[in-house]
Amino acid sequence: MLIVMQHWATDYDIERVKKTITEMGLKPVAIPGAERTAIGVIGNQGWVEDSPLRTIKGILEIIHVTKPYKLVSRDFHPSDSVVRLGGEVKAGGKSPFLIIAGPCAIESRQQIFKTARFLKKLGVPVLRGGAYKPRTSPHSFQGLREEGVALLAEVRKEVGISVVTEVMSPEHVAMVAEKVDMLQIGARNMQNFDLLKEVGRTRRPVILKRGLSATLEEWLASAEYILFEGNPNVVLCERGIRTFETATRNTADLSVVPLVKAASHLPVIFDPSHATGNRSLVSPLALASVVVGAHGVMVEVHPDPEHALSDGPQSLQFKDFERLQRQLKAMAQFIKMPSKGL
Ligand code: PEP
Ligand code: MN
Repeated sequence: MLIVMQHWATDYDIERVKKTITEMGLKPVAIPGAERTAIGVIGNQGWVEDSPLRTIKGILEIIHVTKPYKLVSRDFHPSDSVVRLGGEVKAGGKSPFLIIAGPCAIESRQQIFKTARFLKKLGVPVLRGGAYKPRTSPHSFQGLREEGVALLAEVRKEVGISVVTEVMSPEHVAMVAEKVDMLQIGARNMQNFDLLKEVGRTRRPVILKRGLSATLEEWLASAEYILFEGNPNVVLCERGIRTFETATRNTADLSVVPLVKAASHLPVIFDPSHATGNRSLVSPLALASVVVGAHGVMVEVHPDPEHALSDGPQSLQFKDFERLQRQLKAMAQFIKMPSKGL
């Protein structure tokens, strides 16, 4: 249930609503908005009898939410959330279109430093690089793990670039969160609920990728786990879904971007690399994501894609990435998205 307060409701009215909810054996969570406060009711299993609330002054509307998410919904928080990564780097709302780029996996000191310096020179604010890799086959490269995290921490300090990396196991979360600016939950772990709870206990921004076969509702319910544990800094990432089509690695579901923006206040970015699996499709799809309103992209870039240890066929070469960055800037300007920082 969600209680939307009148814009003129006083602190006293809001407190009365919260007290009544507590007396009903439920938990109130107030989210102040630009114009009015909404109060979410958490802890109910089914329909809540709302008559104790009906007589309280200052209530505009009582909405019985039947969806499996509440904290991430627009009803609860009407204005866009902006997730800050430190410094000027942020995602969501009217922030500049965010570009996150880097190799699928951190493979060596030389590879990650070379990529980081290249991106830094272009003004790309965030470097990605996997240390713990979720590979389909156990025989494939599994990532440099702790050594990879340490390299990323070094790059972050020496090059002066924000970094994001995936966490696959709850035990690693606290250690990784200390060393990076942003955590990533991969598509395969979108419904690893213990992992979601653990990243929810940190305050680090989190990229939550959409599961391979997840509906919009399931994806938002997963984000809800993170917010419910107390971490509001979630950025959703569409990365393609499984369909019957085999011509691409996944099917890019760009229509989900405006749908997410309608249903949720969280920022949403797009990953054209995993969505297509094909380098030649990465730039057109990245550009299309600007048009449908994504707040940013995450693109795989490698100094030598032909010899990459993972996802080489979808990784851009430096020169192609440079061109894409220029095109994204032009496209963002064309459709009047803020483009500073591209
Ligand atoms: C990745 O970003 O390298 C990755 C493994 O992505 P996904 O979880 O979307 O497959
Ligand atoms: Mn990859």
